[in-house]
Amino acid sequence: MPILVQKFGGTSLSTPEARELVIKHIERERSQQYGLVVVVSAMGRKGEPYATDTLLGFIRDNGDSLPSRERDLLLGCGEIISAATLCSLLQSRSIPAVALTGGGAGMITDNQFGRARILEIRTEKIERHLNEGKVVVVTGFQGVTEDGDLTTLGRGGSDTSATALGAALHAERVDIYTDVNGILTADPRIVEDARPLTVVGYAEICNMARLGAKVIHPRAVEIAQQARVPLRVRSTFSEDEGTLVTDITDARQAALVKDRHVTGVAHVSGVTQITVHAQEGPADVQLHVFQAMAKHQISVDFINVTPSGAVYTVFDEDAERAITILRAIGFAPVAVRGCAKVSVIGGGMNGVPGIMARIVEALTEQGIPILQSADSNTTIWVLVRESDMAGALRALHAKFALHE
Ligand code: ADP
Ligand code: MG
Repeated sequence: MPILVQKFGGTSLSTPEARELVIKHIERERSQQYGLVVVVSAMGRKGEPYATDTLLGFIRDNGDSLPSRERDLLLGCGEIISAATLCSLLQSRSIPAVALTGGGAGMITDNQFGRARILEIRTEKIERHLNEGKVVVVTGFQGVTEDGDLTTLGRGGSDTSATALGAALHAERVDIYTDVNGILTADPRIVEDARPLTVVGYAEICNMARLGAKVIHPRAVEIAQQARVPLRVRSTFSEDEGTLVTDITDARQAALVKDRHVTGVAHVSGVTQITVHAQEGPADVQLHVFQAMAKHQISVDFINVTPSGAVYTVFDEDAERAITILRAIGFAPVAVRGCAKVSVIGGGMNGVPGIMARIVEALTEQGIPILQSADSNTTIWVLVRESDMAGALRALHAKFALHE
């Protein structure tokens, strides 16, 4: 029996109407004779009653005293509510179904509560239920330690649960259902004419996800890639097939991506640019600056080192600390808060001349200053002010005709 994993995100489960559509997607695939494993997230987004963020509200004002083990117990509740609700809906339609927690489904993790890593998935129980013809509903985002303690997998955890189950069960495919028609050329909340991609390679999507495209978690893509399980990202609210993420091996798929230099744009906001000049402070400026950041566990990005000093970015929330540390060792850092990293991504841009020129052109035409830039063979990054971010994304999207 071929196995299909379907993962439904928060917005796909938050209203009775949406859950009705979820049932339709399950029924359609069931009629294709798939053994179905359905991974669910907590209902809704920030602010809604059972969203993970809302659950955290119960302990937020009680200080930081709750150990992470107990915190995970609370965090795991949202998915349990979704799983039981969906299971009851399926049974009410006479579709045999069973709901399992992460632990119940055999998802064994280490004991790093809040960001646990999956060690192993013991699939016997899922397989037994599948063989009995049941739809197996599994709570995303959670696992269990060897000791029996509930753990959560961190941000994007339900995506990771889904692809890890797909890999362990040798699924034919993992379908990620969300509220947009696939992986788009940009975040549609900012670029209105962003367009769904038909086929993309794992590496490219992994890169795009790391650079801020929040539609799927990079860890989930890595797991799928290692196991060579294809992914489909699609909308619960339409019948469109969405985006296929796979090894680009067959000729038809290759033809779809061949002429594409730029695949999409992505962004990360809330970063601060820090500049340190070499003539101040101790000699070996680079060494001192980056050792100090490392010692205080401040993650740094966008690093440019020159004989005259160093410039790099940190997240806004770390900026104050970074500046204090730099002053303490004798530097006079200059900080520009409220910046955004805008990335132009394309597996096909390697060796293609003129991409940077067009980026500069697009931003200059809009009067958007570039504070810093860097590139690799698949990405060009520019740092802009956050107030210019939306304009920059739209201008770049248009310059590379990504809407076409
Ligand atoms: P879910 O709850 O289903 O997991 P998410 O909020 O995690 O949904 O992911 C879907 C959202 O990702 C979309 O609503 C969209 O705003 C955002 N997003 C950001 N970048 C992209 C992109 N390149 N393509 C599609 N969606 C994107
Ligand atoms: Mg998500």
